[in-house]
Parts: sequence; C-alpha cells; structure tokens
Amino acid sequence: SSQSDLKPKDACTHPSAPEDGEGEIIVAHIQDPSSEDGMVTKRFLKGKLLGKGGFAKCYGATCLETRTEYALKIVVKASLAKSKARHKQLQTEIRIHRTLDHEHIVKFHHFFEDKHHAYILLELCHNHSMSDLIRRRKRLTEGEVQYYLLQLLEALRHLHAKGVIHRDLKLGNLFLDKHMRIKVGDLGLAAKLLSRADRKKTMCGTPNYIAPEILECSTGHSFQVDIWSLGVIAYTLLIGRPPFECKDVKSTYQRILANRYNFPDAIPISDAAKDLIRSMLQSQPENRPSLEALGRMTFLAQVKDFVPATLPPSSLHAPPPRG
Ligand code: ADP
Repeated sequence: SSQSDLKPKDACTHPSAPEDGEGEIIVAHIQDPSSEDGMVTKRFLKGKLLGKGGFAKCYGATCLETRTEYALKIVVKASLAKSKARHKQLQTEIRIHRTLDHEHIVKFHHFFEDKHHAYILLELCHNHSMSDLIRRRKRLTEGEVQYYLLQLLEALRHLHAKGVIHRDLKLGNLFLDKHMRIKVGDLGLAAKLLSRADRKKTMCGTPNYIAPEILECSTGHSFQVDIWSLGVIAYTLLIGRPPFECKDVKSTYQRILANRYNFPDAIPISDAAKDLIRSMLQSQPENRPSLEALGRMTFLAQVKDFVPATLPPSSLHAPPPRG
C-alpha cells in the first residue's frame, strides 16, 4: 500500500515523472436520470496509486467539476477476457455493491468503462486498511476494538438485512476514513441470497479468516460465515496475529477444522473479550450469535452508549488518549 502519508510534505511537489498515469484525465460518461439525455460527462484527474488488488489497481482521483476526491478502481479489460471467473466476480461485485448505502460501507458512486478499462468510483478512505493499522500498531486496546466492532456490527446489519453475505471480511478489506471510521470494502466475493433458507456452495474466502463450514463444503453456508470472520478479526485486533495462522495454508485449514486456537498468556485480555471471541469462533454455524445477540454481549453492551463517534488519527501510530 501507499506510503505517501509517511513522506515529508514537500515530497508531492517533487518534479519527478508521474508514475502510472498520475495526472492523466479520465473522461466518464455517467448515467444521470436528472439530465436531458440521461447522461452526464465528468472528468477525473488521476492521482496517486493507493494500492493493488487481485485484478485491480486503485488510485486517488479528483472530479474536476466538483473538486470531490474519490478512490478509482481500474481494471484492465484484457485481464478479464483471460478469466471468465474474474469477469463474473466483477459483475457480481458491481451488482451488489451499488445497492448498498451505509456509513460503514465504502460508498459505491459510479461504474463506467472505456475501450480498455472498467472503472469503479468509490468513496476515498484516507487512512488505508486495518491491516496497515495492525502492522504499525501491532495490536489495539480493548477500547479501540469495542469501537471498531460496534461499527462493523452496524455494517453487517445493513448487508445481512439486504440478503448479502460479504464472505471476505478481513483486515485488508476494512478501510479507514479521515476520522478513523470503518468502511467495509471489496465486495468481490459477496453473494446475495434469494431467501433466508438459501445456501451458497461456492468455496471462497481468505485462508486465515475462512469458516469451517466453507472448508467442509457439504451443507453450504450462509450469513454465519461473516460472524466467524468477525471472530477472527476481533482476535487479530486484540492479539496481533490471526488465531489459526500457520506456516502453510493446509495446516491453517486443519487448525480451523479442529477449532484449535488459544489466547496467549503473554497478552492479557478481559474475560468479556474472550467470551465474545469464543462465541463467534464456534465450529457449528448455528451456535454462533446473531448480530443482535452479539450487541448484547458484555464486551459490547457495556460500552455501547459511551464509545466515541470518531478516533484521532494519532491512533494510527499509538493508542488513543483515554477518556
Ligand atoms: P481487488 O478487488 O482487486 O482485491 P481491492 O478492492 O482490494 O482490489 O483494492 C486494492 C487496494 O486498493 C486495496 O488493498 C487498498 O490499498 C486500495 N483501496 C481499495 N479501495 C479503496 C478506497 N475506497 N479508498 C482507499 N484505498 C482503497
């Protein structure tokens, strides 16, 4: 990910050659029901590379008409032509993401394309992802974890109420805005269930965060896979590494299937935090708490009315001041 926030201020005025098309203008023809012909043209100034994903590069971008800043995900179409699965995944991501509207989910603004590229215009998250945060901070205080989990619960309530399972919740897909508010992003593996009884059969997810029922892939999976990943996230934020992490993926999967993890003595965490994590990391999906039940558990219920709405950006580097 970009290191730009660590560079001295004058680094951006350095007259070096622009990288990766920085400074290029991208013209977008966007659907707009309020205009006469149903279309509007907007121009975006391509900025710095924010990060690279599996098949997309993400840049900062400024709309020249409104001066609003965005994140612009760019996919080279040739790469999609090579993989039918990728193509389908991108279509699903767009179809699902554009229906979501929540303060803790990265806002989907527009999709547009030209001959060689597909573009997704997204809400810009200035403070990168939570995996960058944990790399810097190593682990977070219980107060911070309460703050972040309550925001994640709200995001998941919105997703699940719309029938959407995220299926790839992990620190790298949890972005942070200027005010250190969580924005859940990357809907690339999301699925929409047709009904509450519907089940998904496709194997997907990220090794460390994948739920056991996905690995077993016999009965199919549902919303509870996101609760499992939330348990992995809570553990990782408090302990500083994922609970089932192993030298290789096969051993990680074996530990997940055996539900083998522990709380290291060297890192003291409260019983309320352990209870919450244990409840989410249960092998049987139906034993995991619902989002409502999670909000009523001591670790979260005790602070629900006291957590701040934002955290200072200093918490990127050091625990926030108590109070
Ligand atoms: P892919 O779907 O190809 O994996 P991602 O959605 O993970 O792509 O995006 C790739 C990288 O771009 C991310 O890891 C992150 O560094 C950056 N990024 C993505 N979305 C945003 C955003 N809304 N704001 C800031 N950076 C972002």
